[in-house]
Amino acid sequence: MKEILLCKYGEIVLKGANRKSFEDMLSREMKKRASAYGNFDIYRAQSTIYIEPKDEDADMDGMFAAASKVFGIVAIARAAVCEKNMDAIAHTAKEYVPQFLEGKKTFKVESKRSDKAFALDSMEISRDIGGVILEACPKIRVDVHNPDVIVKVEIREFGAYISAGQFKGAGGMPVGSNGKGLLLLSGGIDSPVAGWMLAKRGVRLDAIHFESFPYTSERAREKVLELAQIVSEYAGDIFVHVVSLTHIQEELVKACEEDYFTLLLRRYMMTIAEKVAREKGCMALITGESLGQVASQTMQALGVTDAAVNLPVFRPCIGMDKEEIVTIARKIGTFETSIQPYEDCCTVFTPRHPRTRPDLEKVLVQENKLDFNALVEEAMGTLYTVHIKAEY
Ligand code: ATP
Ligand code: MG
Repeated sequence: MKEILLCKYGEIVLKGANRKSFEDMLSREMKKRASAYGNFDIYRAQSTIYIEPKDEDADMDGMFAAASKVFGIVAIARAAVCEKNMDAIAHTAKEYVPQFLEGKKTFKVESKRSDKAFALDSMEISRDIGGVILEACPKIRVDVHNPDVIVKVEIREFGAYISAGQFKGAGGMPVGSNGKGLLLLSGGIDSPVAGWMLAKRGVRLDAIHFESFPYTSERAREKVLELAQIVSEYAGDIFVHVVSLTHIQEELVKACEEDYFTLLLRRYMMTIAEKVAREKGCMALITGESLGQVASQTMQALGVTDAAVNLPVFRPCIGMDKEEIVTIARKIGTFETSIQPYEDCCTVFTPRHPRTRPDLEKVLVQENKLDFNALVEEAMGTLYTVHIKAEY
């Protein structure tokens, strides 16, 4: 029996002229991932991408897991394929469906006939196939209101498809459909989640990481690259730009009031990030900030940070509790890496009493004690880029 994957994309986002380019992006993402799991035919029709193995060696479990990370896909089903006639469908349902009903109490059949030339209507198909399944699995009952398993029979363009249980896809929009953004990536829990959330909305990611060697270690940087590697399973390749803040931090400590260190440092970070973003064609900055989480994330502090840049700053975690962010971090697989204890440049030279209600003018007085632009330019000179290749 032949099994394939049906990956369905929501039609709502696929409006008018964009539709084809969206679909092309989705097919491309699937094809990139498929090569690691065997030979597949990948084609589409009726808001569905079909992933059909060409031989027995194809790894369907691996492909299923990979497809469930593709943004833009709302549901995935494994389905058995057969010819579009009731004998073949009944035979296939009898062979294929019982394995999914083991240990379950109830089921129902839902049918959809997109091929209107098919002789039976969907009610008739459901009734007949329901009967076949009841015969094959005498212990199970039909429950049309709240079944344990929904068996789907779909009569489509290329054949009939029988599936038992749909799985949620990654949702969102295909990566690349909404421009490119620059993620400020630390080793923490929040920023990888923020990157993932924007990638889900179709944003391709570059990342910038600030280090402060020797105050931060090589291992801290490795950890950040590892986080980028995990996010890339969803977001595709990520270029991580690494910039040193060592000299800036040393100068800040020498010249400025301690209470302002973090705020000043954040303004440097944002300024450098904006420059890199413009060089790399990124149209927004993305951070993992959440309102009130730490001193630099009060409304006043965020205002002071934002005043340093002109690009839009996306903070998808802004209204989320830590617990909600952690839930996503666990789901996407970044959590265990994020909690490894390595220092971040924000945690070296932290003030004992950071300003939580800073006033921009007073911040500027401190900032003007140093040659801001010269230090930014010097830091830009330390930039090097690591290409994280997505491994699906
Ligand atoms: P995270 O868990 O993402 O590190 P956080 O709650 O620890 O966030 P901060 O350390 O104040 O918060 O950083 C706020 C945001 O600034 C981070 O989410 C990240 O986007 C950015 N950021 C912080 N440190 C760095 C760094 N070393 N390199 C790049 N971006 C950073
Ligand atoms: Mg942090």
